[in-house]
Amino acid sequence: MNFVITAGPTREAIDPVRYLSNRSSGKMGYAIAEAALAQGHAVTLISGPVYLTSPRGANFVSAITADAMFDEVHAATRDCDVLVMCAAVADFKPAQIASSKIKKQNAPSSLALVPTRDILSSLPRERNYFVAGFAAETNDLARNAQEKLARKNCDLLIANDVSDATIGFESDENAVTIFFRDGKMREIARISKKNLARELVKIISESAKKF
Ligand code: C5P
Repeated sequence: MNFVITAGPTREAIDPVRYLSNRSSGKMGYAIAEAALAQGHAVTLISGPVYLTSPRGANFVSAITADAMFDEVHAATRDCDVLVMCAAVADFKPAQIASSKIKKQNAPSSLALVPTRDILSSLPRERNYFVAGFAAETNDLARNAQEKLARKNCDLLIANDVSDATIGFESDENAVTIFFRDGKMREIARISKKNLARELVKIISESAKKF
């Protein structure tokens, strides 16, 4: 199958030297890309700025900002079987980007933000590829994840509880609950991101085959 996988954070510029971002390391998305390649799939990896090496054999596409990632996902999904939206796309960006470095003496007391476009929600409702989304939740995991699956029109949603500081984000381990469109769910207890990635690729490709 032809996988498109997004990974890492995005960076939203404030001025030429400063930006807003988030704590995503990209490890989960890169591990999924590696596992998909190992299981014989073709992979386009659309990556935000991370300190990781692209897996050998992946078609690597860099996307630094949420807007760039939006465009690259739309371009790559013209020809794919599965989209895995693992990237922690910024939800907000500065309303304006200063063209030169903002001087300390002129520091504004507040920063105006505007929402970025939601990539998952922008995908066509009728499509011929399978979509797996991610959700990081701190509370009411099942309720929030099921609501997000429907609102963002995913076929499957992988939710992790980020209130546990020892897993997720920069960690090498993760524990997730997978929610399916038909209401079924499946828990994967704490394991390494590499092993979790292998399981996820198996589950996603099996589900995509039935799709
Ligand atoms: O709403 P929340 O950001 O928690 O949803 C997470 C999911 O939505 C992830 O799959 C992420 O890649 C995707 N997302 C998106 N476009 C955005 C923000 C998040 O597709 N602008």
